[in-house]
Amino acid sequence: MKRVFQLIFAFLLALGAVMMALDSCTPQPAQRESAPTAPPQSEETAAPPVPVETAAPVEEATVEESSPLETASPAETPAAKSMAEMTPSERAAAWGLPEPPAGVDLSAREFKLANSYNSITDQRPNHSYGAGVIVDAVSDEAFNSFVGDCIAAGYGVNAFRGYLDYWTVLENYYEPEVYAHGAYYAASVTHVPGCNDHQTALCVDLRLGAGDAGIDFRGTEAWDWLISHCADYGIILRYPEGQESWYGHACMNPCHFRYVGVEPAKYIMENNITLEQFMLLYDWDAIYVPGVN
Ligand SMILES: [Zn+2]
Repeated sequence: MKRVFQLIFAFLLALGAVMMALDSCTPQPAQRESAPTAPPQSEETAAPPVPVETAAPVEEATVEESSPLETASPAETPAAKSMAEMTPSERAAAWGLPEPPAGVDLSAREFKLANSYNSITDQRPNHSYGAGVIVDAVSDEAFNSFVGDCIAAGYGVNAFRGYLDYWTVLENYYEPEVYAHGAYYAASVTHVPGCNDHQTALCVDLRLGAGDAGIDFRGTEAWDWLISHCADYGIILRYPEGQESWYGHACMNPCHFRYVGVEPAKYIMENNITLEQFMLLYDWDAIYVPGVN
């Protein structure tokens, strides 16, 4: 009886061994079965992918942050450029201005500039009778048309001051103020010789009617006509109020109009900037403006 049990036990052991051998011989089907079942499992656990997805961008972001910054050197970043190094387009953008006109040549006659910070020698006009006063030939026709058309529109404006030479500026305007009130006061109400825009022969002072009473006619319809049309003739309001820091003195005679050419005039008037700022767009060293360059 004992032997019978031993035989049965031995048989069971052998059977177990055979079963285990069969199991170990079929691992591939088992793996194949588990492989296709994997996707359904991940689909069922659709909720967990959310943290997976949020984790992925974070990793990507850290990768993006590190690699571009590492490759870009500080010298290549646009912000590192100074105003002096910028192109005219970049300078305009830095000042919040639109693209400036192309083909502007600051060495041209119409860009001779005189103000409290920048003096010139006389720019003697080579011909000249614009709007009844002396101006340079380059601006002659523009001033004739500008004032003539304003009169034709019904406004009785006239030019009463054009080109002034150095000695006229000195003897007729500057010295009388110096003798009466001192040099400091004189410089605040008139130009030091060499610094007067009238020495460029590119400007006129306008008035409405005759006499000093018509010199400041801002707020009139005639004034509005001049301001809205001057750029069409290549002419600007030379000393806009509120922009004194650019030209360096108080707005002594508000009705002082200056020729610069049509495209520059349109850009200057439309953007309410000064001739000084316009010139610095093209050449950072063209003139000196305290606190700017
Ligand atoms: Zn003037």
